[in-house]
Amino acid sequence: MTVRTRVAPSPTGDPHVGTAYIALFNLAFARQHGGQFLLRIEDTDQQRSTPESEQAILDSLRWLGMDWDEGPDVGGPHGPYRQSERQGMYAGYAEQLLASGHAFKCYRTAEELDAIRNAKQESGHQTALKASDLELSADEVAAREAAGAPFVIRMRVPETGTCAVDDMLRGVIELDWSQVDAQILLKSDGMPTYHLANVVDDHLMEITHVIRGEEWISSAPKHKLLYEYFGWDMPKLCHMPLLRNPDKSKLSKRKNPTSILFYKRMGFMPEALLNYLGRMGWSMPDEREKFARDEMFANFDISRVSLGGPVFDVEKLRWLNSLWLRELSPEGFAERFADWGLQKEALLPLIPHILPRVEVFSDVAPLAGHFLSGLTPLTPESFEHKALDAEKVTEVLQYGLWQLEAIRHWDKENIEQALFGLARAMDLKIRDFLQPFFMAIAGTTSTISVLDSMALLGPDMSRARVRHAVDVLGAPGKKKLKKMEKDFQHLLTVMATAEQGEG
Ligand code: GLU
Repeated sequence: MTVRTRVAPSPTGDPHVGTAYIALFNLAFARQHGGQFLLRIEDTDQQRSTPESEQAILDSLRWLGMDWDEGPDVGGPHGPYRQSERQGMYAGYAEQLLASGHAFKCYRTAEELDAIRNAKQESGHQTALKASDLELSADEVAAREAAGAPFVIRMRVPETGTCAVDDMLRGVIELDWSQVDAQILLKSDGMPTYHLANVVDDHLMEITHVIRGEEWISSAPKHKLLYEYFGWDMPKLCHMPLLRNPDKSKLSKRKNPTSILFYKRMGFMPEALLNYLGRMGWSMPDEREKFARDEMFANFDISRVSLGGPVFDVEKLRWLNSLWLRELSPEGFAERFADWGLQKEALLPLIPHILPRVEVFSDVAPLAGHFLSGLTPLTPESFEHKALDAEKVTEVLQYGLWQLEAIRHWDKENIEQALFGLARAMDLKIRDFLQPFFMAIAGTTSTISVLDSMALLGPDMSRARVRHAVDVLGAPGKKKLKKMEKDFQHLLTVMATAEQGEG
C-alpha cells in the first residue's frame, strides 16, 4: 500500500498557520513512508470561498518550503483537485444512499426545524435531529414534492448507542450517537456538504491516512458510517492537537496573528516558521529545537505527537528565528533581507503613494519606514491628542479594531467604510478620529494616507499594530471592556441605521 495523505483547506480568509501545521504533518508522514501528499481545495461553501484566498494558501505553503505531488496547480491522476470543479460527482453518491435506504429526502422548512429542536430541548431530550424527528408521512412528502418544495438529502444515523472511532494518537474514541444529527449530505441547491464531499474525495483520491485537526473528531462517526454505507475501506484517522494561544485558549486571531502572511511580512524566515510548526506537539528524538524540513522528515514518527495542546508562542518563534538568522553569512543575510523587503515587487505597490511626497531617495525611509517594520514603537505620549482625551483615544482604537476585525475583503474602500462609519457614529471629525490610527500604524502623521498604509500592510499586520496601540495605552480591564462592548453594539446599530438611510 502506498501511503497517501492530503491537506484539504477551505479557501476562506487568510492562510492560517493551523493549515500549514496540518499540511506539514501530512507531508512529513507521507515522505517518511515514501508516499504521496496531495492538496485538495474544499470550496463547497461558495459564498465564503475566494480565488484570492486559495492562491494565498498555495503561495504561503510553498513559501514555507512545502510541495505536493498532486493538487489544483500541479494536476495529477485524481483531479480535479478543487471541489467546485467536482460538483457533478457528488449527487450520484447521495442518490446511491437514497436507493439503499441509508439516506432520506428531508422536506422540512427552517421554521419546522427550529420548532422540532425547541420541542426536543424543552422536553429535556438530546437535540440532535434524527430521521424519526424529520421524516414526514408519505402523503405529506408526495404533496410537498408535487408542490416543488425544496429538499435536502440527509443520512440516517443510529438514535442510540456509541460509535467507536480508531484514532492513531488516541486509540479508540467512543462517541455517543445520540449527539449526532442526521447530517445533511446534499443541500437543496444540489451542492454537497463538507461531509459527503470529503468522504467521497478521500475515497476517490485513494487517501490512506487522514491527518487533521482535533476539531473534526465529532465528524468522525458520520464519516465512519458513510464509509460503511458505501462499502469502502476507511482511511486511518489521526486527529492532531489544536494550536493554542499562550493562555491555552484555542489559537485565535484576536489574541495572536494567525495568518502566515503576517509572519512573512514580519520578516520571519520560512525555515524558522516551518521548524516551529514542526515543534507543535512533536519533537526530534534528541529534542533539539532547531531542525530543517528534511531532518524532520528523516526522523518523523507520528506516534511521538503529544496531545497536550501545543502553544504557538510568537516570542518563542522569534527566538527560534534568531537562531536561523545568525547562521546566515553576511552575504546571505544581505540577500535574504533584500529579498524580504527591498525587492522590486515589494516596493512597487508603495511607489504611487510615496512618489508625490518625496524629493530625494533619502526621503523615502522617514515617510514609509513603517512598511519595513513590525509593531510600532509607541508610548502613551504618542497618543496625546488636542481634541480627544486618552480614554476616548482608547475607545477610538478599540472600536476601530473591532471594525477592522469584521472586514472580510481587505481593501481601502472597505477599510474606509468601516472606519469612517464609526467616526460618524461616534460623532468625531475624521481628522481627529484618524490621528490615533496614524500613530498606531506608522508612528507618525507625516506619512502617506493611513487607509492606504493599512490596505498595503494587510489585515493581520494592521490589526496587530492597532491591538498593540491599545495595549500601550493600557488595555481596558474586564469590566471596562464589557461596557465598551455594549457601547460598541450601540454604535453598530447607529451605523446600520445610517447606512439604511443612505441606501
Ligand atoms: N476542509 C476542511 C478544513 O478546512 C478539511 C477537514 C479535513 O481534513 O477533513 O479543515
